[in-house]
Amino acid sequence: MRAQEKISGKGMTSLRTRQRLVERLTDQGISDVRVLEVMRDTPRHLFLDEALASRAYEDLALPIGHQQTISQPYIVARMTELLIQNERLSQRPLGAVLEIGTGCGYQTAILSKFSEKVISIERIKPLHEKAKHILKDLKIRNAELLHDDGSKFENKTKKYDAILLAAAPLAVPEYLYKSLEIGGRLISPIGNGSTQKLTLVTRVAVEEFKTEELEEVLFVPLLGGLID
Ligand code: SAH
Repeated sequence: MRAQEKISGKGMTSLRTRQRLVERLTDQGISDVRVLEVMRDTPRHLFLDEALASRAYEDLALPIGHQQTISQPYIVARMTELLIQNERLSQRPLGAVLEIGTGCGYQTAILSKFSEKVISIERIKPLHEKAKHILKDLKIRNAELLHDDGSKFENKTKKYDAILLAAAPLAVPEYLYKSLEIGGRLISPIGNGSTQKLTLVTRVAVEEFKTEELEEVLFVPLLGGLID
């Protein structure tokens, strides 16, 4: 397969296969056309090992090594939709976005289409490195990937329009509340290994946060410390 064909997904997945994924997402309640288009156009198979690539457009979480998984397309679409459907911000792309748990970089690629800049943190170095290569191949230039621990990635001056956690903490780390712009949103699974709630936090004012618990989800846990 030629490199360009590989990147565009030709020869690997027909438009029909991707369209079916979009239909499934629509059936599950994803309604933002911008999100559906980006989900259709992002070659998810490139983020997976070849043995699993043929299943890339099924709505499934799949293993990416190191006991981690690529998120299910539905949940990627849902979290993205919740971050961009922000009254204050909906007319323009998000500014800076922070993602914790790069994994294979698939959600990062989706977020990059809706933001000026994505900073994505991964604690497992081989996953971080691999994601960096894939995003480079896809010519995504507004994502900065860092090998770091997102449970305590404090940068006191930086503020984000949106923050996404792709791994579940028992409670959102305190520093993340302070890192949200006023009007900004944070989306995170919260809970333990058996019960988690997808939770949306909006910073309404300097000291005022609105918290909404949404559906039940199951993510890998947010863990501390770096792995080389
Ligand atoms: N959206 C990603 C999901 C990957 S799974 C994808 O589709 O590929 C969640 C990721 O969070 C895992 O790779 C895990 O290593 C990472 N993670 C867990 N705790 C972390 C922490 N404290 N800091 C950074 N990354 C973390």
